[in-house]
Amino acid sequence: MNDFLIVGGGVIGMMTARTLADSGADVTIVDKGELCKESSWAGGGIVSPLYPWRYRSEITALANWSQGYYPALAKQLAEETGIDPEFRSGGMLMLRVEDEADALAWAEKYQQPLTQVSKEFIYSTEANIAPGKEQAIWMPEVGSIRNPRLGQSLKKSLEQRPNVRILENVDVKSIRVMDGQAIGVNTANSVLSAGQVIICSGAWSAGLLKTEDADLGDLLPELPIEPVRGQMMVYKAEPGLVDRVVMLDGRYVIPRNDGRILVGSTLEYDGFNKQTTAEARQSLQASAEAILPALKDIPVEHHWCGLRPGSPDGVPFIGAVDGIRHLHINAGHFRNGLVLAPAATELLCNQLLGQKPIIDPAPYQLAQRLEEAAAGEMI
Ligand SMILES: Cc1cc2nc3c(=O)[nH]c(=O)nc-3n(C[C@H](O)[C@H](O)[C@H](O)COP(=O)(O)OP(=O)(O)OC[C@H]3O[C@@H](n4cnc5c(N)ncnc54)[C@H](O)[C@@H]3O)c2cc1C
Repeated sequence: MNDFLIVGGGVIGMMTARTLADSGADVTIVDKGELCKESSWAGGGIVSPLYPWRYRSEITALANWSQGYYPALAKQLAEETGIDPEFRSGGMLMLRVEDEADALAWAEKYQQPLTQVSKEFIYSTEANIAPGKEQAIWMPEVGSIRNPRLGQSLKKSLEQRPNVRILENVDVKSIRVMDGQAIGVNTANSVLSAGQVIICSGAWSAGLLKTEDADLGDLLPELPIEPVRGQMMVYKAEPGLVDRVVMLDGRYVIPRNDGRILVGSTLEYDGFNKQTTAEARQSLQASAEAILPALKDIPVEHHWCGLRPGSPDGVPFIGAVDGIRHLHINAGHFRNGLVLAPAATELLCNQLLGQKPIIDPAPYQLAQRLEEAAAGEMI
């Protein structure tokens, strides 16, 4: 029997598996598809919330910890696996921000490097930005990560650990519970036993806690996590057109090392529908060209979408599932799962391994968050 069984192999599940394995535990990670082919693959990889001052302090706390950790993690993964997740530390330029005063107040409160910059700074930093931008907010320390490569390197690093078992294309149907304690999971064709079960199933997490078993039904909470589709595109540009993450009116461009430029993203509530649409493509193209007019003449290489694990206020649920012993969750990171992943997974592992937590775990715990939701305080 394994010490830990993790349901879901996105960045959250994989980073959890890696940390637990490094503590000496035997870990199984199960995914209904391949590892890192859902939201963690589809995302843009900005290592910051967009307009970070608009989020709750719980997001800032996790994001700050992760931002300090990412450069070393990327280096370590590149050395360990030969796959470089391409962490870039170029900064983020936010054009035409309406709530600049809030941004400055937030930066002062949390001691974040963030400044108001003028037209001269904008065009001397990124010469190809569309004309007419007078002012911006600049965060020089924000980075980005090439998330599909992050996923590949995490997967390889797990494959290199003898105490990790990876099961792909195995659909977990339900949690097995005996005498109020999780003892494993039921898959379509088998039973997997484990000492502790951890749900890291992204947008699908709430479904795993749904059961028709009347006894269990009363014990398992109804989770407010729902899929929120995001569509993105990539342009096959040459290096040099843009070097930093640039945002305008909620949309952004993200440069990769090889010159490719991502543009994102839409925010759509349409259940588990993973279709891309012509309307979104047009609208993303318009947003991309409003930032970098030269993209008009550059081919779009690919257009895709992913399902974010949407949660109230975007604050993830991290910790024990009350009522069922040995069942835990780390899900609901919404628009920020890539930036939050190192801190969110470390925080859960601290609890599982009896370590001092990196930050106060209370605001992320299920009982407290569900109480807030019931009181209507999270929306
Ligand atoms: C377009 C877009 C842009 C984004 N941009 C950014 C960004 O710039 N920065 C940022 O920080 N975040 C970004 N995000 C958000 C980020 O991608 C997510 O918050 C994060 O990837 C969530 O990680 P996860 O591991 O929880 O979920 P996922 O990556 O979705 O992984 C969940 C895994 O669970 C598996 N699973 C589900 N149900 C079962 C089951 N029953 N049995 C077995 N396996 C199961 C799935 O197959 C999947 O592999 C973006 C997301 C999108 C869609």
